[in-house]
Amino acid sequence: MMMIDPHVHMTSRTTDDYQAMSDAGVVAVIEPAFWLGQPRTEAGSFKDYFSSLIGWERFRASQFGIRHYCTIGLNSKEANNDALAAQVMELLPLFVLKEGVVGIGEIGYDDQTPAEDKYYRLQLELAKEHNLPVQIHTPHRDKKSGTIRSMEVCLEHGIDPSMVIVDHNNEETVRDVLDRGFWAAFTIYPSTKMGNERMVEIVKQYGSNRIMVNSAADWGKSDALAVPKTASLMLEKGIAKEDVRMVCYQNALDSFGKSGQIKESDWITTIDQRERFSGNSILRGGQTPTVEEKGNVIQ
Ligand SMILES: [Zn+2]
Repeated sequence: MMMIDPHVHMTSRTTDDYQAMSDAGVVAVIEPAFWLGQPRTEAGSFKDYFSSLIGWERFRASQFGIRHYCTIGLNSKEANNDALAAQVMELLPLFVLKEGVVGIGEIGYDDQTPAEDKYYRLQLELAKEHNLPVQIHTPHRDKKSGTIRSMEVCLEHGIDPSMVIVDHNNEETVRDVLDRGFWAAFTIYPSTKMGNERMVEIVKQYGSNRIMVNSAADWGKSDALAVPKTASLMLEKGIAKEDVRMVCYQNALDSFGKSGQIKESDWITTIDQRERFSGNSILRGGQTPTVEEKGNVIQ
């Protein structure tokens, strides 16, 4: 089964993760722009980070047969540095229309401060202007009220719910998100809030319509194989293959596909590790490049 992980911070992951994801059937990933585990102090750091998301990281993924996309935005944590945030807003238009950018993200609320609200709204306007999907990070504290507020502000700005992927849902928020017509994404966190056994129950209860799973794997304790593992568990627990395909593949493709930047014909069929990006390769001294036909269909 082909899978997409529509929220994963590959910048923080190793080549072993890419290899394991590729072996498990992940054909594409979407990397939302986020913070780096600590706040940046210069706008130039954002510029180089955004450049790496559409440059080196995309190349690195391709070397393992995975197509890499990203969403570009100012994250809610760093929106609280008002002076820097204003400079980042000026950078965003330079990146949002680049090849492989499938939306504005991840944006939204963290502590639900006035500064977060200001930059969330400005970026919703940017998404509307360019007709791009929005990938929303919902707060981990005051989850339910923060999630509802995130959606209400979208509606206030005239954003069509079918253009918005609301992330980090749980049992308390899913009904509100689906009822309002938004996409409901679930992050599978190992040994905490949202394990994949709970995800199985959610799909059993709510079906596969407008629901998707992701790993949100980053620098913290997380699992880059969360999507394939959840797909396997869902099949084991008797969820129909078509529903698993919707939740682990098709819904991510359909929602972010509204950008016009992601389609099945993009999937990589030949891995050629002799390739270079700006003269740089993923190979280190003396390693033999893999060159192989990957094929489109992974069983
Ligand atoms: Zn994230």
